[in-house]
Amino acid sequence: MNSFKRMTSMFTVLAVLSAATSCGSNVGGGSADNNAPVSTESTTAAQEAAAPAVTEAAADPAASTDTATFVSGTVTETTAVTTVASTETTSSVTPEFTLDSYDITVSVGGTKTPILSVQGLQEVWTTSNENVAVVDEYGHITGKSEGNCVVTISLKDKPEQKAEVKVTVVAADDGLTYIQGMLIANKTYSLPADYNPGGLTPETQAAFNNLVQGAANDGINIYLSSGFRSYEYQSQIYNNYCSIYGQSTADTFSARPGHSEHQTGMAIDVNIIDDSFIGTPEALWIEAHCNEYGFILRYPQGKQEITGYKYEPWHIRYVGIENAQKIREKANEVGDPYLTLEEYLKIDSVYQN
Ligand SMILES: [Zn+2]
Repeated sequence: MNSFKRMTSMFTVLAVLSAATSCGSNVGGGSADNNAPVSTESTTAAQEAAAPAVTEAAADPAASTDTATFVSGTVTETTAVTTVASTETTSSVTPEFTLDSYDITVSVGGTKTPILSVQGLQEVWTTSNENVAVVDEYGHITGKSEGNCVVTISLKDKPEQKAEVKVTVVAADDGLTYIQGMLIANKTYSLPADYNPGGLTPETQAAFNNLVQGAANDGINIYLSSGFRSYEYQSQIYNNYCSIYGQSTADTFSARPGHSEHQTGMAIDVNIIDDSFIGTPEALWIEAHCNEYGFILRYPQGKQEITGYKYEPWHIRYVGIENAQKIREKANEVGDPYLTLEEYLKIDSVYQN
């Protein structure tokens, strides 16, 4: 009866655990930009008027904690209800597959894959909370941020053939902090000294190439002035600024080593890296359009108390088109075109010492 028990448990609908996620907390430390020393914040009326345009998109799936929603996707609502209701009688359904695990733990940024007992099935995988873990068509489950969720596998043509995997996402032990799938580097969250992608990540480079082309189509010339910076290089820059301006001033525009977003390989300073860039057609274009290419303006005007950095219209961060659109939607929703990543993720950016 061992196999019977196994079948039963396999088809028993697991309670969806709390989907609450909290910011990953490892290490202290953060990120930042840092080139240009420069003057005071000055904003022009033109900039104030240049509120980013927001595109209306589908409802935010993250907003839902309904235990039934995750079954949608490809499986129909009715099927889901039927399956849930028939828990007691599932023993009459002959399972066509089993998984080697129904309860997995994966670290943020890590990937695990339940192994199917049968190959060649037309299976459909869905997650109950994509902010905690995502799953692709092959069943690769990747942790996005600490928390719990349920990944469901069902057969394309036989939705009653389904199983659920309880997923627990724990903090990564590599010293990196991912929140909602985004690697965080600010004054609170730091990167290990040995974290070195060696350059811009391929996704960032590709997205930037698209951005440059898109700008060119609008008659705007955008070019890269500073991309990836290693921990060691950031140390040199920061220490140099400290010796010139003193640490407290240097901290407003230059990141301490380990806290620079440039070390992620996903941050880029475009064009002119000083306040003379403010209000230029190029700066206004970046502000209005960078999200369309998966970037966000990381240190908007008027948000120094939140980001820890003065206004930097030249510093953009790649977060992927999906995240960039979600952030824009949230900004639109709350009526703040300059909503920061810190505000969106509800995290802070303050040096711990
Ligand atoms: Zn920068």
